[in-house]
Formats: sequence, structure tokens, C-alpha cells
Amino acid sequence: MGASVIVLLGPPGAGKGTQAARLARSLGVPHVATGDLFRENLANDTELGGKARSYMDSGALVPDDLVVDMLFDRVARDDCSGGYLLDGFPRNVAQAECLVQRLDNSWSLAVVVLNVPDEQIIERAAGRLLCRSCTNIHHVTSAQPKVEGICDACGGELYRREDDRPEVVRDRLGVFYKETRPVVEFYETRGGVCRVDGSRSRDQVFDAIVECIGANA
Ligand code: AMP
Repeated sequence: MGASVIVLLGPPGAGKGTQAARLARSLGVPHVATGDLFRENLANDTELGGKARSYMDSGALVPDDLVVDMLFDRVARDDCSGGYLLDGFPRNVAQAECLVQRLDNSWSLAVVVLNVPDEQIIERAAGRLLCRSCTNIHHVTSAQPKVEGICDACGGELYRREDDRPEVVRDRLGVFYKETRPVVEFYETRGGVCRVDGSRSRDQVFDAIVECIGANA
């Protein structure tokens, strides 16, 4: 793959993290997830983590300057020079504009939107289990770990996200419709987006994304 950026957009719990991790592995590019970067900062008790915590706990967006600096530091590293996959960024039009500024004409951009009905989002988030050591995502019913509480991929400890409680997910969905859906329209007027029905099985969604971006994953 040349220098290209893949942007995965969709509501919280649409499967962006699951699909992004698999896609990044098969394309051999870094999976850059702003939510994961913030959670790392929280776990390491950094100053940035301290600033982001209250926004994250309530399901609100972290202020753009904090997000953009953190993200652009990450993608400036060597491993991103041949391309990378963005999960959770951009979350609003201002962030999308920052990305446009950053990428010159040598970069291509593919935007994939995962659509999942709201009821399914709440159900998925409520059962979601994250790994403390890698980016693998399990689910209490639809993607059960072989050993309870342990990640199949790396043996790490599984945990539930604080902000996956139904009342916070509803707020996060509200933020998605208000702030992030306009980003889909932003890209639609600039080269287009590819829409994927994210309510299907993990494999079906993966195949549809690969077809969308025309990659040999
Ligand atoms: P995620 O794991 O992508 O659902 O992100 C978890 C939380 O991190 C979000 O609810 C926000 O509080 C924060 N966050 C992640 N990415 C962004 C972003 N691009 N802009 C603002 N806040 C973000």
C-alpha cells in the first residue's frame, strides 16, 4: 500500500476498534485509535490523561487541541510514514479540517462509515470487553473469550469500559449525531465515503470494508 490514510467512522460500539485492529494487522499498517491513546494516558497517569478524564467519563469529546496534538505526535513517528489507519478521529468537522491541513497531495484518503442501528449499539457496548494489553475486543455473548476474563489473542486481562454503561453510551450516541455525523457529510462532498452495514457478522463487515478500500487484505 502507498502512503494512504484509512479513516473509519461510525457511532460508538459500531465495531470500529475490532475491524480496525484486524485491518491494520492484515495491511501491515499502524492502528491509531485516539480513544486507546487517551486510555493509555489514563492508565499511566499522565498530565494529558488527567486533562482528558472528566470528558471521557461523561462521554463528551476531549477538546480539539489536546486530541490533535496527541494524534499528530503519534502519526509523526516512522511507523506511520507508509500509511496508517485512524479509528476515532476525526470526531468533528474542526478535526477533519486539521487532517486536511496535515496531509499533502502525496497522501490518499479512504473513508469508511460503519452503520449500526442505535438499539444494537447499546447492546454491543453493554457486553463489550477490552483487553488491557492489546487492542483485541471481546463480547460477553457474541465474541466470548475461551477463558473468562482472559484475552484470546494475548492472554491479557479483560475489562469493561467505564463509558460503556448504557446511560453514558446514550450520551456518546448523542455526541456522535451532533458532532461526528457532519464529518461524514464533510467527506461526502470531498471525494466520497464508502458505507458498510456494520450490523452483520465480524467477517462479513471485514470483507465489505476490504472491498470498499480496494485493498488486498
Ligand atoms: P473511543 O474509544 O474512540 O470511543 O473514545 C473514548 C473517549 O475518548 C471518547 O468518548 C472521547 O471522550 C475521547 N476521544 C477519543 N477520540 C476523540 C476525538 N477524536 N476527539 C475528542 N475526544 C475523543
